[in-house]
Amino acid sequence: MENCIDVAVVGAGLVGTALALGLSQRGFDVELIERAPFLPGHDDDYDLRVYAIAPSAAAFLERLGVWPQVLAQRASAYTQMQVWERERASALSFSAAELPAPALGHIVENSLLQRVLWHALPAGVLRNALAVQSAQSEGGVVRLQLSDGEELYARLLVVAEGRDSALRAQLGIEMLSGVYAQMAVVCHVQTEQPHQGVAYQRFMPTGPLAFLPLADGRSSIVWSSSEAEALLALDEEDFRRVLGEASQQVLGRIQTCTRRVRFPLALQHAERYVAERAVLVGDAAHLVHPLAGQGVNLGFGDVEALIGLLAEARDAGRDFGAERLLKRYERARRADVLDMIAVTDGLYRAYQLPLPGLASLREVGLGLVKAAAPLRRELVRRAVGLR
Ligand SMILES: Cc1cc2nc3c(=O)[nH]c(=O)nc-3n(C[C@H](O)[C@H](O)[C@H](O)COP(=O)(O)OP(=O)(O)OC[C@H]3O[C@@H](n4cnc5c(N)ncnc54)[C@H](O)[C@@H]3O)c2cc1C
Repeated sequence: MENCIDVAVVGAGLVGTALALGLSQRGFDVELIERAPFLPGHDDDYDLRVYAIAPSAAAFLERLGVWPQVLAQRASAYTQMQVWERERASALSFSAAELPAPALGHIVENSLLQRVLWHALPAGVLRNALAVQSAQSEGGVVRLQLSDGEELYARLLVVAEGRDSALRAQLGIEMLSGVYAQMAVVCHVQTEQPHQGVAYQRFMPTGPLAFLPLADGRSSIVWSSSEAEALLALDEEDFRRVLGEASQQVLGRIQTCTRRVRFPLALQHAERYVAERAVLVGDAAHLVHPLAGQGVNLGFGDVEALIGLLAEARDAGRDFGAERLLKRYERARRADVLDMIAVTDGLYRAYQLPLPGLASLREVGLGLVKAAAPLRRELVRRAVGLR
């Protein structure tokens, strides 16, 4: 068919953009369709939304050729992570030296990574301020109805629409989902003591509180809490005091704090990632609790697996939109995603149970892990995506 492209990627978040870039580099004819009317220019303000990028995801971004630009602008390597529950003295400490790797990960702003990826796209791939309204598979291609009235034909549709994907529902893909009784409160703080490249996470009965080291010396706070509304309602001074207490003054007094933003938290997992000539990637396929900082890392894992399979099929002269091939992608990714759901949802639930004595049992558990060096190393490897 004339005017039929190879792959239509819907959604230019980090995951969809990385996919469109990788596929164009492999010679696929790709269009990336995004309903938002961006491209933002350079912004000196630190984005409140930052991600812990695992070494495996950084290596993937390196292969795409964009990681050096991220490092050259603003990224903060963290070389140690401390995790505790009640007593700081019993904190588990993970170090990059144990892996061995130069860093456990890098804290990178969403807007910076997004901008670098968009700018790396070949001209004409990104079409923004344009929504995909519907998709229909017919005669070996997918017909997309765009919001400007145009029809686009593609051999494969990739849905990268994020957590509220509408095309996923149109494709008849059901979601297993639940809402967490917590919301994430996010802000950046200046602390009395320097973070020295250490990330901290304290697990409390109301939810986990993370301090992520930023390149300008501040720390990014991701506080997932069942009391998020109350935390958001506090004035700045009270919030700084409450945060200092909750962190057990791990970095001393909280001296300054930016505005606070909220993110509702949910668990979602698509019952399948594949429909006729269509495939899901990123948050459209799976949404996990941010306590392990792995959502976009999982999405990049999807993208790398999909690029490899599509390129292999095309190079062998096979149909890269065939269901059998797409099912191979689904099988490859599902195991990793289920693993991450088990870790994040399991930890969430473990800290929800208000059983007397359970906290100390969990601490004994952490203590045991501390003593069991091989198991501890394995946990570190999983946490940073080096399995
Ligand atoms: C508080 C918090 C902290 C987090 N921290 C981490 C972390 O440390 N590390 C980590 O790896 N992950 C983290 N995550 C997860 C991460 O934010 C997500 O996994 C990631 O942003 C998902 O990217 P995506 O591209 O799949 O989806 P999105 O970013 O949601 O992008 C989807 C895009 O699709 C577009 N779109 C939707 N429908 C259409 C349509 N019909 N037509 C055209 N365009 C459309 C949307 O406008 C949007 O731009 C965190 C999440 C939260 C909430």
